[in-house]
Amino acid sequence: MSKNWYPIIDYDKCIKCGNCYNKCKKNVYEVKDGTPVVKNPDNCVEGCKGCAGFCPVGAITYFGDNGKIKSQCSCGGNCKK
Ligand code: SF4
Ligand code: SF4
Repeated sequence: MSKNWYPIIDYDKCIKCGNCYNKCKKNVYEVKDGTPVVKNPDNCVEGCKGCAGFCPVGAITYFGDNGKIKSQCSCGGNCKK
């Protein structure tokens, strides 16, 4: 678990499909009035890009991402960690 890595949602892009909320098994997100919010960033797994892989519009980036991490831990659906 990490405070140095967590998702950031671009609400200008988000279409509120719910994938990130439904796929993440770490309880990072909650939904408020149909909109996903990053409620528990400390629960996010460092290096995981699982939810971004499920976002249909590319609205999710990560605090702490230096562009070098290519792997998808994908704890949200097909975790390999
Ligand atoms: S799916 Fe992975 S990257 Fe996305 S919030 Fe959950 S733990 Fe973090
Ligand atoms: S997966 Fe992407 S488009 Fe869907 S609710 Fe999450 S941030 Fe929004």
